[in-house]
Amino acid sequence: MIVIRARVLGFCMGVRRAVEMALEAGKDGLVYSMGPLIHNPQVLASLKEQGLEILDEGALPPDLEGLTVILRAHGVSPALEAELIRRHAVLADATCPLVKKNQLKARSLAEAGFFVFIAGEKHHGEVAGLHGYAPCGIVVAESAEAAQAARVLAQENPAARTALIGQTTIDAGEYGRIGEAIRLHFPALEVVDSICPATREWQDALRELCSRVDAVVVAGGRCSSNTRRLLDIALSLGKPARLVESAAEIDVSWAAGYRTIGLSAGASTPDSGIAEIESALAGL
Ligand code: SF4
Repeated sequence: MIVIRARVLGFCMGVRRAVEMALEAGKDGLVYSMGPLIHNPQVLASLKEQGLEILDEGALPPDLEGLTVILRAHGVSPALEAELIRRHAVLADATCPLVKKNQLKARSLAEAGFFVFIAGEKHHGEVAGLHGYAPCGIVVAESAEAAQAARVLAQENPAARTALIGQTTIDAGEYGRIGEAIRLHFPALEVVDSICPATREWQDALRELCSRVDAVVVAGGRCSSNTRRLLDIALSLGKPARLVESAAEIDVSWAAGYRTIGLSAGASTPDSGIAEIESALAGL
């Protein structure tokens, strides 16, 4: 079996930074992360062995006095950050700089009086955090929902100043369609270029790869939206494709039916996990 890696794949800058911060903070004892640090069960299990515990937003301990709490790469809402401080936690902010930039932009738009449409997955931590910075805005997952929300707003306040900001990992095509749907009612819509360039690069590299291989394996967590997006892209290009979290999940009879397999990996997939899956495929 010939395995060809995508030109770029795996850990992005923000995730690598968050994991390194957790490992560094863990040297001084038990560390907590506000929600799962990254969307990869294998990395989380390994970090847990090294002393990282995950806090649940809905069940915060009443007193976090002196405990280090890492804010993950996706960021958190300002309200949650304030709550952690109120409970005396020592915060280590691993919010990706690109996410932070979007959060501050959302806040400045909201403060300037814009109605902010937030494009992304409704229950994703990054989107919830972003919404916290523009609480008067609305989250829309896709263009039909955006069209409906814009229609309602146009009836209630046709003179509203509107802006659109998105989850860093949203599909660029979907983001464009959401913008078009809102523009039908608000032609002056201000669109923030909020998509992470790493996400685009990973996706473009996979598209190039698809033209050279028979099938695709995407390595990464099922709960990672950018990993699932990579799988969707391969499938939409007509490639047989599977998402696997570890080498043990490779469907051997499926993979053995192809001569060349392209390997991509989500932004929260560690180098070791990619190497393990690559060598398992190559050995088929
Ligand atoms: S995907 Fe982009 S925005 Fe998200 S953590 Fe990685 S570098 Fe940051």
